[in-house]
This record gives sequence, structure tokens and C-alpha cells, in this order.
Amino acid sequence: MNHYDEQAWRNYLNASLSAAEIGAMEHHLYKCDECLAVYMDCLEMTSTTFPLLELDTQGYVDAIIARTTGTKRSWYRSTILHYGIAAAATIILVATGFFHGLSQELNPSSLQKKQEMPVSDVWLNKTLGWLDTLQNGSNKGGSHP
Ligand SMILES: [Zn+2]
Repeated sequence: MNHYDEQAWRNYLNASLSAAEIGAMEHHLYKCDECLAVYMDCLEMTSTTFPLLELDTQGYVDAIIARTTGTKRSWYRSTILHYGIAAAATIILVATGFFHGLSQELNPSSLQKKQEMPVSDVWLNKTLGWLDTLQNGSNKGGSHP
């Protein structure tokens, strides 16, 4: 059996191979545990550099809380409130197709050029920007103590 090396699996993950090669490698992967292990290692390494749209939701919420508590302590008082705001904001933004437009902006070819800015950070910034407009709106309404 011909095994594939690490470089081959990296090429596979980068989709820089022909369809025939990819097919042969996938076929091999089903039968060979050795190559599966190498493939999994490569996958782990590339997943840290390739932005994923599947976000770590807990980390995302935590990051929002960390930023908002640092800058807007008076308004974002309790942890439960933070969770509520972050969850509500995310749900509303998803419902309004906010992230859909964002993910179209971040198509695969532009992602590779913008690797210094992870997708989760882009989403985080957009959500925080949206929270700022929400806060400004409520101040105008006079609900602030
Ligand atoms: Zn193999």
C-alpha cells in the first residue's frame, strides 16, 4: 500500500490537488488508520490557521463579556445580563441575516488574504458595534438612571 505523507495531506486540505488525486486519497483514508492519524494531525494544524465559520459559542460570548465589562461597566452590570444581551444580540443578528451578509463578504479567496483577522473577531466587532448603537439608543430614551 502506498502511503501519503504529511505534505500530501496538507495539499489535500488546501484543495490544491486534482479531483482524481483527492478521490484516491479519500479512498485511501477509509482503509488506512496510519494515514488517518497523519491527516487528523494536519487537520488540527490547519484548523488553527484557517478561519472556521463554526464558532466556539462559549468563547464568543465570553469574549463579548470580557470586552464589554472592560469598557462599559456601568451599563453592562451583571454576568447574567451580559449573557442575555450577547445571546439576544446574536439571535437577532442571525435572524435578520446580518451574519449571512458577513459570511458572503468573507468568501474563501478573501479569507486567505485576511488571515490576520479571525472570523470570530470580525463577528465580535460587528456585534459590539451593534451593542453600542443599542446603548446609545437607550440613553436617548432616558431609561438610564
Ligand atoms: Zn496510508
